[in-house]
Amino acid sequence: MSNAWQRIGIEASAVNASGKSVPCECTCGATTFSASESPLFRLFCHCSICQRFNDAPFADVTVFRANDVAMPPEGVVQFGTYRPPPNVRRGVCAECASPAIEVFHTPLFPKLTIVPTQNIKRTDILPAPAAHIFYESRVSDAADDLIKHHGYWRSQLAFGRLLLKALARGQKAG
Ligand SMILES: [Zn+2]
Ligand SMILES: [Zn+2]
Repeated sequence: MSNAWQRIGIEASAVNASGKSVPCECTCGATTFSASESPLFRLFCHCSICQRFNDAPFADVTVFRANDVAMPPEGVVQFGTYRPPPNVRRGVCAECASPAIEVFHTPLFPKLTIVPTQNIKRTDILPAPAAHIFYESRVSDAADDLIKHHGYWRSQLAFGRLLLKALARGQKAG
């Protein structure tokens, strides 16, 4: 464990030894890390912070248990905290400044690591997107049949429900 990670409250984690790991990298390839083959869920977030952070109309993100993602080496990623929600630390590649990895630590929640879906280099492990959240801040309408959640609390609740569902599924499988 490196002190730099400790300072910002991130625990070094190793990908489950039993599972195969999936390579992940930023747009320029300078930030690389690996994740397990078992993401929890994937969704589209239209909140204004995701828009700014991704420099895109919305974020396409895949959520993992924190223990299922091996963090990139220290110094490769620069972390910042944006609001709201308050407990997501968002990291960009120090080289290309593209979104690299996000860390979600909130009381009562399991620790999660959120990976911009485009950084996951194996599409076969990706879950189908489950929903849109913070849809009220969308730049344009989405042409799909996914459920669309509006507003802060409804979006947070939807995130929590997806998480519970995914964790329950994992317990059954494991
Ligand atoms: Zn990069
Ligand atoms: Zn967002």
